[in-house]
Amino acid sequence: MYLLSGSKGDKTVTPQELWATVKSQLEMQMDRGSYETWIKHTHFLEYRAADGHFVIGAPNAYVCEMLNTRLMPKVQRVMGDIANQKVTLYFQVAHEETVPTPVDDMPLMRFAPPQPQETQDALSIAEIVRSPRLPDLPQNELNARYTFDRFVVNKSNEMVFQAACAVAEAPGTVYNPFLIYGGVGLGKTHILQAIGNECTARGKKVLYVSSEVFVTELIQAIRSGTTAMFRQRYRTIDVLLVDDVQFFASKESTQEEFFHTYNALLNWNKQIVMVSDKHPRDLNGLDERLRSRFQGGLLADIQAPEFETRRSILQMWMQERGVELDTAVLDMMTQRAPSSVRELEGMFVQLLAQVKLNGGHISQQRAEHTLTRYVQPRNRITVERIIEITAMKTGVSATDILGKKRSEQINGARQIAMYLCREMTQLSLPQIGDTFGRNHTTVMHACQKITTDLLVNVALKARVEKIKKALGS
Ligand code: ADP
Ligand code: MG
Repeated sequence: MYLLSGSKGDKTVTPQELWATVKSQLEMQMDRGSYETWIKHTHFLEYRAADGHFVIGAPNAYVCEMLNTRLMPKVQRVMGDIANQKVTLYFQVAHEETVPTPVDDMPLMRFAPPQPQETQDALSIAEIVRSPRLPDLPQNELNARYTFDRFVVNKSNEMVFQAACAVAEAPGTVYNPFLIYGGVGLGKTHILQAIGNECTARGKKVLYVSSEVFVTELIQAIRSGTTAMFRQRYRTIDVLLVDDVQFFASKESTQEEFFHTYNALLNWNKQIVMVSDKHPRDLNGLDERLRSRFQGGLLADIQAPEFETRRSILQMWMQERGVELDTAVLDMMTQRAPSSVRELEGMFVQLLAQVKLNGGHISQQRAEHTLTRYVQPRNRITVERIIEITAMKTGVSATDILGKKRSEQINGARQIAMYLCREMTQLSLPQIGDTFGRNHTTVMHACQKITTDLLVNVALKARVEKIKKALGS
């Protein structure tokens, strides 16, 4: 079957529902600001059976162009993933009159010209189109779900979490500016917005903006001659949260404006929190003055979540949605998303759709099938590969890692290998113990030791990262 089909193959999804699913997936994958700006006000227009194109409406030419160019690969990928096949689509500016009536009962397998009918859906789409909006003024739109209590804390993110709580409690006093950096899908936006939500609750005026939106707005303000208003707005807040500052790099003119806003806010003891996907020193194209400003505050990096953390996050999501998944299915997901919570979320959402269609349950086999694309066979991580690569990167032979010798160097390599087996495979402590000819408490001790050492030992951290990278994670 084509899309999200039930096990009996009798449930299909309309193109309209498909687009709704794509939107919700994008909402999770993109920053709030970008989602609101580019995706939120799009809507399904038609499916052209003749050439197999999905036509999606965009609120205005500006957004439309952005979608048809820069964002197209991403949208297409997400849509293709959900539809389980390659899809072609394009965006066109859709005014109210061109909003089609919904085609609710039209399964994706049988595309027919939509039948005109008046329904509530049509109204709500019309309403959305009636109020298309570029971010003329960025709203303080924080996702209410991004809170501190929905953030699972463990070694990988403890420091960021503590610092974020401290900042939220007393903005502008403790760590200012505060910059969080780390890889994609590790919870940076979540933490940033949690600070925003907490500060808002404490009566502070918070502005959350992705640097992309900041740039877009600034350009608009320059075009419409309203830069004074633009400045004023940014400078009358208590807390400025800037997501994905890496986008500033290489955008010279906007860096200048940001630099002034930044200085003004800091001078007035307003809190600035920023998120970047890299350490500021590694942001090519970043103005030197900004770089040194960024490094002048507290920098905290967020690491890929440990196995247990990923598991706890899944457990939280299941509880929130009131679904149960078999342990085997949970293991599968936890193992297949070793380095990104967002990926884990993608899997979870896909399984949820299946669970819904299958009367509240999903078999291991079906889950396996649904999650096929999340395994890249060449990257499959096995104990053998972990040992092999650890040996290569530490200069200790695989035989010694698996043997009984106890020199400091060999012990160290062995502990790293055990830690990585725990982190990157699905194996239990006793299973790992068996491989190394040790009991499970030895493995547990090794994992704890490495986890603790990673926090303070930069050389060890670099080495472990290297091994992980070589393993393709
Ligand atoms: P980033 O901005 O680093 O790319 P996000 O903040 O968008 O990542 O996180 C991706 C998804 O994973 C979000 O839905 C977020 O709520 C969730 N997430 C990430 N880390 C955690 C965590 N430690 N606890 C709970 N949810 C998390
Ligand atoms: Mg983000």
